[in-house]
Formats: sequence, C-alpha cells, structure tokens
Amino acid sequence: MSEGLVWLGTPAFPQAAKKALADTQLRRNLGKATGTIRDKRLRVCAELDDWEQLRDSAAALKLRTLRHLPRYLEQLEASVTAAGGTVHWAADAAEANRIVAELVKATGEREVVKVKSMATQEIGLNEALAAEGITAHETDLAELIVQLADDRPSHILVPAIHRNRAEIREIFRSRMPDAPADLTDEPRALAEAARLHLREKFLRAKVAVSGANFAVAETGTVLVVESEGNGRMCLTLPDTLITVMGIEKVVPTFADLEVFLQLLPRSATGERMNPYTSAWTGVHAADGPSTFHLVLLDNGRTATLTDQVGRQALGCIRCSACLNVCPVYERVGGHAYGSVYPGPIGAILTPQLAGVGHAASLPFASTLCGACYDACPVKINIPEVLVHLRAKEVDAKRGRRTPTVESLLMRAATEVLASPERLRLAQKAGALGGRLVGRGGRIGPLPGPFHAWSDTRDLPVPPAESFRAWWQRTHPEENDR
Ligand code: SF4
Repeated sequence: MSEGLVWLGTPAFPQAAKKALADTQLRRNLGKATGTIRDKRLRVCAELDDWEQLRDSAAALKLRTLRHLPRYLEQLEASVTAAGGTVHWAADAAEANRIVAELVKATGEREVVKVKSMATQEIGLNEALAAEGITAHETDLAELIVQLADDRPSHILVPAIHRNRAEIREIFRSRMPDAPADLTDEPRALAEAARLHLREKFLRAKVAVSGANFAVAETGTVLVVESEGNGRMCLTLPDTLITVMGIEKVVPTFADLEVFLQLLPRSATGERMNPYTSAWTGVHAADGPSTFHLVLLDNGRTATLTDQVGRQALGCIRCSACLNVCPVYERVGGHAYGSVYPGPIGAILTPQLAGVGHAASLPFASTLCGACYDACPVKINIPEVLVHLRAKEVDAKRGRRTPTVESLLMRAATEVLASPERLRLAQKAGALGGRLVGRGGRIGPLPGPFHAWSDTRDLPVPPAESFRAWWQRTHPEENDR
C-alpha cells in the first residue's frame, strides 16, 4: 500500500453503504444537489457543437502525456526553475508532508491559508502540519464547513454536498467564534459570515498552500481554477506559495489548456467558464508571492502508470461529473468510499493508489451502467477499469488454500454447465428447492452463504417445468433430430 494515501477503508464499502442508505436526510441532500448539477451540465455541454471532439482531444492529450510523463516532468522542473521557482520531488505522502512542513517552518510562520486541493487531502497535509504546530486554514467555503465540523469531504468538487443549509448554519454558530448571533440559513448570510471570517486570515497569512489543476511543461505555468475568489487571494497575497501537485497534472504546452479549460467548468458545475482561473509562472518582483515552491507528488502514481488499463485513471481532471451521474454515489454519498476520492473515479483510483488489496470492495461498488464513461470529459473508460480491477481481485484470491464461497459456487457452476444432463438435474433441483423456500411466488433472504446475495435481492420461484422440459414435452417430433 502507498504509505500515505488517506484511506479510511473501515468499514468496507458494503457495510458503510448500508449505513449511509439508512440516512434519509443524506439521500435527500445528495439527490437534490447531484440532480441540479446534472441538469445544468447537460444544458451547457449541449451548447458546444464540438463537445465530442473536445473530449477526444482531451483523452488523446492525457494518454500521450502519460506515455511520456518523465520527459514532461523534467521539462516542467526546468521551466519552473528558470522562472524563479523551486521544485521538490516527493515519493510518498510522508515525504511531501515533511517537505511542506519544513518550508513553512523556514519562514518562521505557524499558520497557512489553503486553497482547496485534493492532493493535500490525499496526503493528510493538514493533520501533518498540525503535528508540527502549524495551523492550516481552509478557505474554500465548503472546505471551511468540513473543517469546522471536523468532518470529511464527501464530494470532489462540493465537499459539503451532504450538508444542507440548516446544518451549515448550526456548524457556523457552534464552531465559528465570529459568526453573528442572529445568523440565518439564507445562502447570502452564510456566505457573508464565511467571507468576514476568512478575510482577516487572508490579510494576515504570509504562507499559502495550494494544489494545481494543471502545470504547463513548456512554460512552467501552474494553474488553479476555482469559483469563489478565495484561491486568487491565497495565490497572490502571501509572501510564500507552496503548491502540491500530483505528477499526472502536467500538460505539455500552453495551447493544450484551451481544450481542458472548455471541458472542466462545463463538466464540473455546468458553467461556461471558471469564475477564477489563476495562472502563475515562477515569481515576479512586486507581483504576487516572492517565493514559490512546487512539490511534485508521486504517492502511488508511478505504480499506477505501469498498468496499461488502469493508468487511464491518471487522466482525471477532477471535474466530478462521474459522481453526479452515478446511481450508486447518489444513494450512498462520498463517505462510504472511505477515501478522499469517492464515486466512480474513487472506485478505480483509490485501489490503484492504495493497492488493490486495501480497497478490494471498491471496484465492485458499481452497477457498470456506464453513465460515468458517457459523462467523463476525458473519456476515461471507468467500467473497463472497474472490470479489470475486479479481475485482479478475483485472481489474487485464486491461489488461496481455503477457497471462497464464490469460487466454490463458480466451480460448481462450471461442472453443471458442462453437461446437459447435469444442467437438467440442477434445474429440477432448483425448481423443487425454490418452491420449498419461496413465499408468494418470490424467493427472499436465504440462510448460510447465500444471505449476502439474497438479503438485498429477491427472485421469482423457478417454474415447476423448465423451458427445456416444456419443449421436449410439446415438440416430441423435434426430440429425435
Ligand atoms: S473520471 Fe472523468 S468524470 Fe470523473 S472526475 Fe475524473 S475527469 Fe471527471
């Protein structure tokens, strides 16, 4: 397992999902939020005649970049260094956290402001900084809500999607000392309270930590896209800027951004363009931070790259469209996935970054309906990777001394299906058994090894006569052929 992926995989997905399904408020919040974003996304994507060509271009760009990743990363390092920045390489979460903590300590500061970043969540940076006596203030509104509530993000783009506004007001009132006593749950009032709370931190902070949506190899330009302006504040006001970026975020040329910056906002929030797209290249006198550090994070990515099928997960631009269309995510929410990467992309990325054995149930957390593939702006074939990872998981169990119930059943099915006579007898036995355990024409929960499958499904009692038996009885002339 990659030593630093924030992985909370206990309980495993099936148990966590069962608990989440029982939370009707959660399901209401999720259904409303994902439905709204879904409809908006469909409307704005349909406005572009060349949407499919953009998706093809993005997929081709990502695959080509992944194929030549070492070359582009070295080019990025040279470009950033030439522009006055400093590049650090981190093999895993522990190394990345250590680098960032040392950089902050070197400034003499004890607090940082943060732009929302999946990479820093993945490595548990806030917790690592806290252990070194450094306070990290999240400045994205939803991240602030999650941080104040001691909660975990449940969506890539809308981390507090599982909270409604009444819950948010209660979090602000109980956890934000400067929240007005008469705070209502009006969105404008909540945003204003957060704005006042954060403004003072923006003006005070000397160090900022960000992630990156893209970094351009040819120019050394790093980009962050966001919609609240908090990112712009973090990226321009402090003296020191530290960016932690997964190595897969590099793009070869500045022109490549044309494709991604059209796809990302439409796929993410159904907007035609991002409200704030901040791009910076190294450092400039009297403009923005005077010191810039770029931490390039591996943390399981190189290992993922070696898998010809699974590597496509590294093309993800974190738009979260796949989450919003996923029938499983919509019902269980993000926490059930036990990872900072929930939903369909989490089901293929987490097992690869953490090691399949540590997130074994996630590739099965899907109906394989394919909605995620249709929605993905970079055409990641998520169902294909899910099936691939399932096969790996099954293969890993094959050599076990004690066979699983599933493998025993599969072996029995192979024997039965290999012989027409055995199939006939099995059908007869099945019809008899079905009538014995069935109630009202349906077979419900079964005891023993069958309960895991039958607890959540029922099936009709098999007919007393199978199709083959009926055919033989009603078409005797065919039997002799
Ligand atoms: S897998 Fe595709 S749809 Fe899902 S978050 Fe990544 S880019 Fe978006």
